[in-house]
Amino acid sequence: MSLPIARTERDSILWEVTRSLCPQCRRVIDAQIHLRGGKVVMRKRCPEHGAFEAVVFGDSDLYTRILGHNKPGTLPLRFQTEVKDGCPLDCGLCPEHQQHTCLALIEVNSACNLDCPLCFADSGTHLARTGFQLTYEQVDTMLDTFVAAEGDPEVVQFSGGEPTLHPQLLDFIALAQRKGISYVMVNTNGIRIARDDELLEGIARLRPHIYLQFDGFDERTNTMLRGRPDLVETKLRALDRLAAADVRVVLVAAIERDVNLHEVGRIVEFGLSHPAVFGVNFQPAFRAQRHLAADPMTRITIPDVLRALEEQTNGRFALGDFVPVPCCMPTCNFVTYALVDGESTTPITRILDIDLYLDYLKNRTLPRVSDELLSILETLWSSSAPVGSDRAAADVHRALNVGTTDANAAAGRCTACAARVPLSEHTPRDVARHVFMINTRDFMDPWTFNVKNVMKCCVEFLVPDGRMIPFCAYNSVGYREQVTASLMPAGRPGTRATARRAAAEKDGAFVVWHGTGSGPRVMQEMQESEVADQFVKGLDYPIEKAVIVAAAREASLSQTIQDAVAKLPDRDYSEPDELTQALNAI
Ligand code: SF4
Ligand code: SF4
Repeated sequence: MSLPIARTERDSILWEVTRSLCPQCRRVIDAQIHLRGGKVVMRKRCPEHGAFEAVVFGDSDLYTRILGHNKPGTLPLRFQTEVKDGCPLDCGLCPEHQQHTCLALIEVNSACNLDCPLCFADSGTHLARTGFQLTYEQVDTMLDTFVAAEGDPEVVQFSGGEPTLHPQLLDFIALAQRKGISYVMVNTNGIRIARDDELLEGIARLRPHIYLQFDGFDERTNTMLRGRPDLVETKLRALDRLAAADVRVVLVAAIERDVNLHEVGRIVEFGLSHPAVFGVNFQPAFRAQRHLAADPMTRITIPDVLRALEEQTNGRFALGDFVPVPCCMPTCNFVTYALVDGESTTPITRILDIDLYLDYLKNRTLPRVSDELLSILETLWSSSAPVGSDRAAADVHRALNVGTTDANAAAGRCTACAARVPLSEHTPRDVARHVFMINTRDFMDPWTFNVKNVMKCCVEFLVPDGRMIPFCAYNSVGYREQVTASLMPAGRPGTRATARRAAAEKDGAFVVWHGTGSGPRVMQEMQESEVADQFVKGLDYPIEKAVIVAAAREASLSQTIQDAVAKLPDRDYSEPDELTQALNAI
């Protein structure tokens, strides 16, 4: 008698085949997506560096359920490149790209006043002397590219580096607004906003929306992600100053397993209680450029963040309240909006079946879907949703008016107010205050990069040579390195940046220290330091030496500059010029 042959089952279901990158050499390689152990795992093999696996989504059931949240893309008016080597090497946007641009980013500089252990821009204080800084003309051209591609673009975000260190940031914001881009965001760590009155005044005048890096309250969180235990006080000060100036803020938190996942509930509760905050954006940490050492198989993803939020808010916000955004791939971005009235919050997904409307597969079989409601929901569930704006809040109320049988909503009353005051009697800001947005966006890195997702990306970096490069391609494929090298001034005589720097030195536009006092090495460091210039100009005068020393430490200025500041005569300084002269005399 022969024994039955033992057969072994595979431990996963092959879901699809795609293309990705080798995390070591970045070459484009085949990849498989598998459902395994309740998670979604990417598997791939590089002919040179071997096999790799990474978790790309923490809930395989949810992953397969949301696939219908995928609407046809919209063509941009113009493509910037041609199809030559195949995706993702032709960015962009090339004619193969499946979506237009909802949100464009401009990195205006590469230097920062922090040296975060987690930084996809690979920024830091070391770039104060050698980093790039875009010119007004470059930003002008980049915005024109965006306008030409979109016709009527809605959202641009100025980022860096730390964009508030750029002396022309306010000019860039005004320029974008003049070009008709109504929703302008500044992505910042908030340090300068916390102490620079002139900058705050400019922001209050121009009213960009502030995307404020805010990862949590624990010293350990801030030390591990930002390299500094003492940032919370500065961020709270920045927030209070923005609230006083009536500027709207979205808190942006990078979330890393075993670092700050336990803080997501507290961040949302805090956001709901702070008058400047109109939303929270969670970004699971991804492994592009600088990041913490971590196992790609324990990577945190959107469902992990949302489950933690559900647990920590005791169900005030639940995973089921979040709906994938259909303009990009549905696994990229989950959003909810809540009606807020004092202590009470109601996610609108509990009032209106948003899923039903934004599930495009099911929609085909539904006899009648309200076109008006669909269009409002598509605006809200989009990467170009102007979070915290009067318009987004009005859209939430319009959606409720059109989509529910609630008599209050139908009568045009504010469904968030206990008093049900008519919306027409609210100021636009009051309506906006009644709406709070939370989203979770999962960016890809060389481990998780999926060509299918990037082809439908609707978040693009504008670069000075006229290309528009999808966010995850820019950070993973090698475009960032290419663009940065082309902009770096150091050792590149004749480049625009070098010429600009030379002209600025001649005009005294941003070089503070012209002295020839003792310590030429120190002076040379300072002469080239735009960050030092910003530092001196950003202080509140009159100012004591001890406060200057503390501010230099808080801003993480280079040791050279901190040493120079420590040697200042111990007295008060009445204005930037006086401080500059004193530093020159050291
Ligand atoms: S990501 Fe888009 S723009 Fe870039 S190569 Fe692929 S299809 Fe073209
Ligand atoms: S604040 Fe932002 S740009 Fe600056 S180092 Fe940190 S992550 Fe990078």
